[in-house]
Amino acid sequence: MDGRGLLLRALRPLDWMDRAKCRTADLVESDRMFFGDPKWAPADDVREYCADCPVRSQCLVYGQETESSGYFGGQLLVHGQVVQPTRTALVAAR
Ligand code: SF4
Repeated sequence: MDGRGLLLRALRPLDWMDRAKCRTADLVESDRMFFGDPKWAPADDVREYCADCPVRSQCLVYGQETESSGYFGGQLLVHGQVVQPTRTALVAAR
């Protein structure tokens, strides 16, 4: 994906995002889960939370295509690459 495509995606939410389970999540709870303290690896919580999200695969592909860092589709990504959720990886993903 070129830079323009990435910019358009960033500016305009994609259709699948309307069906994301986390779209209606409590902000405090989702912040704790998705952006938690790196000393506490919440990977199991996130994996369990995202397991029944109807757009899990689209979320993961989006994170990979946009070379994002953080949790996407229940997986931890660093610059679009799936990594094991170690403390070092969590710090890198922030
Ligand atoms: S899979 Fe993605 S869209 Fe679905 S709940 Fe998890 S982070 Fe949100």
